[in-house]
Amino acid sequence: MNFNVDEKGYYGDFGGAFIPEMLYPNVEELRQNYLSITAEPDFKKEFDELLKVYVGRPTPLYFAKRLSEKYKTKIYLKREDLCHTGAHKVNNTIGQILLAQRLGKKRIIAETGAGQHGVATATVCALMGIECIVYMGELDIQRQAPNVARMKMLGAEVRPAQSGSKTLKDATNEAIRDWINNPVDTHYIIGSVVGPHPYPDMVARFQAVISEETKWQLAEAEGRDYPDHVIACVGGGSNAAGLYYHYLNDKRVNIIAVEAAGKGIDSGESAATSALGKEGIIHGSKTLLMQTPDGQITEPYSISAGLDYPGVGPMHAHLFRSQRAKFISIPDQEAMDWGLTLSQMEGIIPAIETAHAFAALDVCKFGPEEIVVFNCSGRGDKDLDTYIDYFKL
Ligand SMILES: *Cc1c(COP(=O)(O)O)cnc(C)c1O
Repeated sequence: MNFNVDEKGYYGDFGGAFIPEMLYPNVEELRQNYLSITAEPDFKKEFDELLKVYVGRPTPLYFAKRLSEKYKTKIYLKREDLCHTGAHKVNNTIGQILLAQRLGKKRIIAETGAGQHGVATATVCALMGIECIVYMGELDIQRQAPNVARMKMLGAEVRPAQSGSKTLKDATNEAIRDWINNPVDTHYIIGSVVGPHPYPDMVARFQAVISEETKWQLAEAEGRDYPDHVIACVGGGSNAAGLYYHYLNDKRVNIIAVEAAGKGIDSGESAATSALGKEGIIHGSKTLLMQTPDGQITEPYSISAGLDYPGVGPMHAHLFRSQRAKFISIPDQEAMDWGLTLSQMEGIIPAIETAHAFAALDVCKFGPEEIVVFNCSGRGDKDLDTYIDYFKL
């Protein structure tokens, strides 16, 4: 079985491009060009250079000594939290803005829920001097004031989505409407391995730099370029896709995906898509998503805004269904405790999204000679208020 996308844009049963006809020319233009443009030497050179001098890559692969001793296994952290803007998301927005430039686009749109992808998009637009419009649900604008301020400071226009639940899916609808109305000069930067083909594959390829570096870094540290286990949190699934990418078809490597159980899988307030999701179409692709019996998308919940998404990307739906990856889901409380543990055992305050991944140490068994690589997807600065409230700091 192959775990990369096939020629039709599918991962097993999942993926494809389920889009309104009016959007077809935009998506088709991308599909026809993304592989050839990103393979051009000039593109690669500029992408690699920006990742190096602007984002700060390669990010370290850090051997977590105290954690390894406590859990009696070899634990490494891939430090995406050290990327410029504080998380992995910028790897993708750099790639997409370079692609947009080569397609002659003059205007960037994006949608954001928690604001993290909006900030990563506004950042690269400022870098390139390109107009940036970020759609965001009215309710999210109120909940995520610091990220709204960051986007404005970076020169982006934040447009409120006032329909429906005034959250991410409404912002997505607005962004799609904008793209239909501006098919020639605008590129839509999607922030995770979701959306119609070719987005999931394109974003996965940009994030694949994570496992590309992990391979040579592990070879240096351990004399072999593959670990026994790779572990990452999954919202839409982009940081996970980046860490898994070069190991997808390497059966020596176990893949573990960690979702947010929120207040508990059966609480009705959760984002554990693999446990609760059914096949359906969201954001233009066929995947697993949380929905009511009559097919309405369920509002997800997690204490971490970045995992608060009702679906997963089609790659992850396929990894789940084929059992190539083991999926676990972790409630808010355990994730928050891991935020504190990682801070005090390794001096790294993680994003709450990232903290979920580490709870795998309580759920899975690892041998003393085994190598476990965690993706440290982001830093906890943005979550400090949540940590303060939760721990009464
Ligand atoms: C956005 C975000 C995530 C979740 O997004 P994925 O596409 O699943 O990676 C995870 N961690 C951090 C720090 C984030 O900002």
